[in-house]
Amino acid sequence: MLAAIIQKPEVLELCEVPKPAIEDGEALIKVFYTGVCGTDVHLLHGHHATATFPLIPGHEMVGELVEIKGNDIGAFQRGQRVVAQEVLSCGRCTACAKGEDNVCESLQIIGIHTEGSFAEYVRVPVKKMLPVPDGIDDQLAAMTEPLAVAVHDVRRSGLQVGEKVLVVGGGPIGMLIAIVARAAGAKQVVISEIKKFRRDFASGMGFDVIDPTIADFDEKLKELSGNEGFDVSFEVAGVKSAMSACINHTKCTGTVMVIAITKEPVPIDTGKVFSKELTIKGARIHNFYNFKGALELLQMKSVADDVRKLISKVYSFSDIRDAFEYAEHGEDGFKVLVKIFE
Ligand SMILES: [Zn+2]
Ligand SMILES: [Zn+2]
Repeated sequence: MLAAIIQKPEVLELCEVPKPAIEDGEALIKVFYTGVCGTDVHLLHGHHATATFPLIPGHEMVGELVEIKGNDIGAFQRGQRVVAQEVLSCGRCTACAKGEDNVCESLQIIGIHTEGSFAEYVRVPVKKMLPVPDGIDDQLAAMTEPLAVAVHDVRRSGLQVGEKVLVVGGGPIGMLIAIVARAAGAKQVVISEIKKFRRDFASGMGFDVIDPTIADFDEKLKELSGNEGFDVSFEVAGVKSAMSACINHTKCTGTVMVIAITKEPVPIDTGKVFSKELTIKGARIHNFYNFKGALELLQMKSVADDVRKLISKVYSFSDIRDAFEYAEHGEDGFKVLVKIFE
């Protein structure tokens, strides 16, 4: 089969390799589309702490179930369209016992620690796979994984209907959080984003926007919230100023969600956390329950319409290097998909 292999940092090549062999409890998926994630770009640059090379990246997949092994295969059948959660968990540690497979003690990720889906075929655990409902087309189904991140973030935040939300960082995940928060009944979603194109795009989708580089950012943001602050804020930018904006503009007893991966530890004004009785929570990837929730949410027309708008470009497999380049440096895009099988 054809696979995209990162041979070493900065070297991505299309190579002919053997199809993955599956074991009991695993399935083989013929991949239709795979989305390019920020993680894939980090992997290409060699910026991932636990990755070793060579590796086949890719985890935002949709395809056709072509082979399945074992006794516990549920209602799955060959020929079905499926998506799969990339989280490989042990099933035995405390986190797994609580259903929080995303923080498993021996967590592994498809496309980082095992062969990923920038390949014609990928192997996945049967228990991490879900059939795609007929109403969801292939490109939309490829958005299940990034959408699941947003579902996990919003559900963990405890957002209630009618509340106000601040999202700091308007990239693909920030936009998906905004979309899910709106679907969950947020009264207002404000997105703080540096890039003008992204602000215009978000504003076109009906969200309030603000440029964090303006001199009177704090006053303007306060005004936008009706001078009362936000119930829940999401830090999706991974910089000190973003965390400060969240701490400063979240209401008393509100919640600050830490979503971004940061290179360096980010300082927090604990005095404000104390005086406003803020809750600060992390949210990493998604558990299987929220992955399933994302696929179910894509059956809501309003969400599907919003999510589809984020698919900026679709590249053919032979142009995968361009897809990575655009995902990282494209100044007018959000999500990039790669079509694996024509
Ligand atoms: Zn991803
Ligand atoms: Zn575990």
